[in-house]
Amino acid sequence: MKKFLEDFKKFALRGNVLDMAVGVIIGGAFTGIVTALTANFINPLLSMIMTGTPGVDANGVAWTAGAAVSAFLTTVINFIITAFVLFCLIRGMNKLMSIGKKPAAPAAPTTKKCPYCCSEIPIEATRCGHCTSELK
Ligand SMILES: [Zn+2]
Repeated sequence: MKKFLEDFKKFALRGNVLDMAVGVIIGGAFTGIVTALTANFINPLLSMIMTGTPGVDANGVAWTAGAAVSAFLTTVINFIITAFVLFCLIRGMNKLMSIGKKPAAPAAPTTKKCPYCCSEIPIEATRCGHCTSELK
């Protein structure tokens, strides 16, 4: 049961939590754009086709092109600002994360070159496995 819970924890935390949060926020902001497009342009267009008048906008006021465009632009600008702020935030976070990390040290060599036949042999070898020369 303990192993099962550990596996579940690994599974749940596998993805980057930050990436997921960004996805949710961007998704929410994008939903706003789609909603604004529907409420300001598609619904009035359908109403126009069905009844001959564009009907009322999202605020219950008679639809006008200027109000619809401005409401839609507000949502788009809102989305752009949200995305830009998130971008700056993530950039800052990535910089912070990279400050603590040191570049990985190169791995210690485990092989050496035989001076007689130039083959790769284990570093602790006292006799070459390829040319059988004795090494000091
Ligand atoms: Zn050799």
